[in-house]
Amino acid sequence: MSDRGLNEECGIFGVYGVQDAPNLVYYGLHALQHRGQEGCGIVAEASDGTMKRIKGEGLVTEVFNEANLSSLKGNMAIGHVRYSTTGGGGIENVQPFLFRHHTGDFALAHNGNLVNYNILRRMLEDRGSLFQSSSDSEVLAHLIKKDSADASKPRIFSIVNALNEVDGAFAFLIMTSNRIYACRDRNGLRPLSIGRLGDGYVVSSETCAFDIVGAEFVRDVEPGEIVTIDHHGLRSRKYTDSCSHDMCAMEYIYFSRPDSDIEGCNVHGFRKETGRLLYGEAPADADIVVGVPDSSLSAAMGYSEASGLPYEMGLVKNKYVGRTFIAPSQSLREKGVRMKLSAVRTIVKDKRVVLVDDSVVRGTTSKRIVSMLRDAGAKEVHLRIASPPIVSPCFYGVDISTYEELMCAHKSLDEVKREIGVDSLAFLSEEALFKAGARNELCLACFTGKYPTKLYQPVEEANKDGKF
Ligand code: SF4
Repeated sequence: MSDRGLNEECGIFGVYGVQDAPNLVYYGLHALQHRGQEGCGIVAEASDGTMKRIKGEGLVTEVFNEANLSSLKGNMAIGHVRYSTTGGGGIENVQPFLFRHHTGDFALAHNGNLVNYNILRRMLEDRGSLFQSSSDSEVLAHLIKKDSADASKPRIFSIVNALNEVDGAFAFLIMTSNRIYACRDRNGLRPLSIGRLGDGYVVSSETCAFDIVGAEFVRDVEPGEIVTIDHHGLRSRKYTDSCSHDMCAMEYIYFSRPDSDIEGCNVHGFRKETGRLLYGEAPADADIVVGVPDSSLSAAMGYSEASGLPYEMGLVKNKYVGRTFIAPSQSLREKGVRMKLSAVRTIVKDKRVVLVDDSVVRGTTSKRIVSMLRDAGAKEVHLRIASPPIVSPCFYGVDISTYEELMCAHKSLDEVKREIGVDSLAFLSEEALFKAGARNELCLACFTGKYPTKLYQPVEEANKDGKF
């Protein structure tokens, strides 16, 4: 990862029908840690048969230990890792949420962002709902309960109705006393996959977490689908027929782990292909290809293979420094980059370097890396970006900087080139992203400003609020 005001919101993981489910969720969350490091939690059965939650701020290894994990029992559990956008940080927003209700307790974990959150929350508060947190995810729980006063009515009906009221990006796990519901938004913006483990099932934001627990991929939850997992096995139900496959392109470009497959396409394979296509669109006369660790390495390999230029490790990362975004201010962020990456002088000295990066958000990191390469003796630096310029904010759970901070939203290609200080600069086309994924639908809203859902208020206003 190279920057930069570009942070994923969350990851979710659930287990049904497998012994020691809470332990497996712990391992699953560990594999999803890159999707959020601010907090995490697990809900499972306690020794007295009720649902119990353990959650805290920090990494999975910081929040859980043998003692607290062993207090969670049973063959069913769900968990969550969080990076906060809507609702901000704080322990009250760490998920899963656990709700006590006379019709039965239930827990909920959410990845994504609801664009009509403000409207729904206001409507629910006016009807008497009291919220425990400022997280958008809690809205769904209130919508489910609003509709389930009649305990004899199967819960799936309330879930169907609730999901038809929310709009935006979501992958939800809802756990009741005897089943887990796995749901995805109608546009399919966030990933959610199902795996098989022995006689039971696991559900995860990314397939990389299946390997860690020894599960086998079964299928993805489809856009607009609710998969019920219980002692009958898997059952599917569509809550809407108006669906699309607008998977977040940034999942492929930047967020997801290279060993994950999203909707049938391996993330490393996708990135490598973007590198190949990038060379085709913007070849550079140079000596070596260097990728920005870690998410740009696959694209750099692709560029190197297509160009025939050697792929070199011109930049190394200090693995033991936390992600850059931990530093809140611009100046601290800049220092953070220095701490995190170093240029390898013996490799880049006197060389014409093609620097491959996955994206440009604020541009601060690119600028620092380029000056680092020049300080280490690089003769020329040709920057190739394996995605189009980011010109619009994201309203679907990715914390992309505001308009003001987005370098490409306000500057021409030439101005960006000058500001970053490179000899040449090129971005990948939108068409190449479709080609790399062998698909014809993707969310590209942060590159195009064309959002696949309604935003419920003007973009500028929503962006200013930071909430929707
Ligand atoms: S706007 Fe960008 S970051 Fe947000 S969901 Fe769409 S592609 Fe992903």
